Amino acid sequence: MTLPKTMKCLVKAKAEKGLWLEQRPVPEIEPDEVLIKVERTAICGTDMHIYKWDDWAKNNVLVGLITGHEYSGHVAAVGSGVRRVDVGQKVTGEGHVVGNRSRNARAGRFHLDPDTKGIGVNLPGAFAEYLALPEFNVIPLKDDVPLEIGAIMDPLGNAVHTALSFDLVGEDVLITGAGPIGIMAAAVAEEAGARRVVLTDINDWRLEFASKVAPKTRLVNVINENLRDVMTEIGMNEGFDVGLEMSGAEPAFNQMLDHMIMGGNIAMLGIPAKPFPVDFGKIVGKALTVRGIYGRQMYETWYKMIALLDSGLDVSAMITHRFEARDFQKAFDLMETGKTGKVILDWNAI
Ligand SMILES: [Zn+2]
Repeated sequence: MTLPKTMKCLVKAKAEKGLWLEQRPVPEIEPDEVLIKVERTAICGTDMHIYKWDDWAKNNVLVGLITGHEYSGHVAAVGSGVRRVDVGQKVTGEGHVVGNRSRNARAGRFHLDPDTKGIGVNLPGAFAEYLALPEFNVIPLKDDVPLEIGAIMDPLGNAVHTALSFDLVGEDVLITGAGPIGIMAAAVAEEAGARRVVLTDINDWRLEFASKVAPKTRLVNVINENLRDVMTEIGMNEGFDVGLEMSGAEPAFNQMLDHMIMGGNIAMLGIPAKPFPVDFGKIVGKALTVRGIYGRQMYETWYKMIALLDSGLDVSAMITHRFEARDFQKAFDLMETGKTGKVILDWNAI
């Protein structure tokens, strides 16, 4: 197969709201890299920050970057040193490209490497016809995994990594924040053997949508319902054994602290927009463990995620909209309404 010289891609071309469809050279690959023909991408909250050009984006992203980090496709070419991946294979990939110098990287704790760079944040991204990726980061997919599921495995990995931080078998689980990762974490907790799963938010649309993806989860709008009453209704007489904080919101975290069991475990993935005070007396008094979660474990989370999908975890209802990549503006406009699950762009016909 001869590769084209140029490709279409979505670029943060100006320091203002928007993304721009541009023509760029197809990336050259190093001996240890793989060239992926991108076929489906999904839009992430991170992409929305970059699209809107908010303070976080201004401080973390350079103008001129090709954006996007949730994708799937087939291998178009491999570097001379690549052994594990073949041309033609269906793949997705880990978006965190790690170094090999830090203590954590040398110890195999790649997800904790401080030299990590992100595809579509610090490195050229996947909203493009072609993406160059280190072989180390490439995740082969079986033929029965749909391309669009491959394109949402990056956020599914966040959900799996957070949900599986603590043993869930027979446990009562509180998830605060019904964004895509919170909703997928509820589905994972159901699949992983939790007894009761409760998902809270203050947005009725999100909770209604969550019921399609995590049908056994008790959904609570904490503006209208009292969490303590819900616990009584579902047969809980103490507190939640495991908390998964996905919102980054101060009231949600405080409510979680107040409804945990003595000795309970909290995993925090939500990033607060600004610092907020925490009553550490409650953490000490209840003997709670609070663990911060970042990214995914390389590559144990990917193994677990593929195994969960293989054994019946179904997150296909997460995908609510599909657009041709050339219609990206419609997709970003829709994402801004907040009334979407995952939105997929198809790059095959661009
Ligand atoms: Zn993402």
